[in-house]
Amino acid sequence: MKNILRRILLSFFLSLCILNLLLAQQNLDSILPVRGFCIGAPKPNDVDAFTKFIEQELKPRKVNTLILRVDYNYQFKSHPELIDTPSLSNSDVKKMVTVCKRNNIRIIPQINMLGHQSWANETYKLLSVYPQFDETPHVKMPAKYEWPNADNLYCKSYCPLHPEVHKIVFGLIDEICDAFETDAFHAGMDEVFYLGDDKCPRCSGRDKAELFAGEVRVLRDHLAQKNRQIWIWGDRLIDGKITGLGLWEASYNNTHRAIDMIPKDVIICDWHYERADKTPVYFAMKGLNVITCPWRMPSVAVIQTEDMVNFRKQSSEQMRNNFMGMMQTVWSDAGSFLDGFYGKTKDDKAGANTPWNCFRAMYDKIGQLR
Ligand SMILES: [Zn+2]
Repeated sequence: MKNILRRILLSFFLSLCILNLLLAQQNLDSILPVRGFCIGAPKPNDVDAFTKFIEQELKPRKVNTLILRVDYNYQFKSHPELIDTPSLSNSDVKKMVTVCKRNNIRIIPQINMLGHQSWANETYKLLSVYPQFDETPHVKMPAKYEWPNADNLYCKSYCPLHPEVHKIVFGLIDEICDAFETDAFHAGMDEVFYLGDDKCPRCSGRDKAELFAGEVRVLRDHLAQKNRQIWIWGDRLIDGKITGLGLWEASYNNTHRAIDMIPKDVIICDWHYERADKTPVYFAMKGLNVITCPWRMPSVAVIQTEDMVNFRKQSSEQMRNNFMGMMQTVWSDAGSFLDGFYGKTKDDKAGANTPWNCFRAMYDKIGQLR
């Protein structure tokens, strides 16, 4: 009899614990639905260490969204001519997909669309293999890159109106989404400086906001055919001059009016690294879903997290769900981040302002929300 009573009490206690955990999880999901982490995909040699990091560091912090910037570093079967080195194999990707599935983490791959088709003096695969897609073929890549320069070259773009370009990029998008078994794709589209160039036979004279919005729509419509969402960075949709946010974090090239032209189901990743600007409200009031993205300043990330929680609390029912959550962004590949995170490398110049400190501080703050 005593034994039976003990068993009943024990099972009652266990159910209570499980119920508590479920409620805490539900509570966090309603306070901050998206808890993200965005990083350059690991090199093949770092895949195992990175999957361990997912299990040991992302899972306990309740991260539920992982964006991996893959670009051309995947062994594409549809376009082997575009494979960059080092390249992830399909089985490398499956390792990460499996661990994310096991831990209820949504995994979303990124390939930069439109802009970021070069970096410094290196032209990336799309434009080096298909130079006819270059929006500014007259701009020659410098032997030694420096900013500012006479061409205003930051990164090359592809021409969104070239009749052949989408056939190629759709192939890449479909294949990477299939490999990652995902229902969303991050198209990048940040810091597009070259757009509607005066010398482009297709784009010259056109409205740059319409060109940008047109490209978002083309990509969005393609993904929607397979019930996939499009995510993009938000900087081209903010007026850089009026806001004082400058030409990287916002737009100096008249793309900002595109905010009223893009479909409302585009997910906006709104990045601000030096200050907790209140731009999420602007996106949410336009009917767009927005996620705030810090990088390396822990103090800024904590304020941004508090802001996001408050925006949700202090908004109408209609607008509340447009404030989706927070995402830590890391602008290195996974291997270099892990070295910093585990203290193998030190960045003395950065002091406390490192992406790993920011990640820890932001998720400590999120942990307290429960
Ligand atoms: Zn063009």
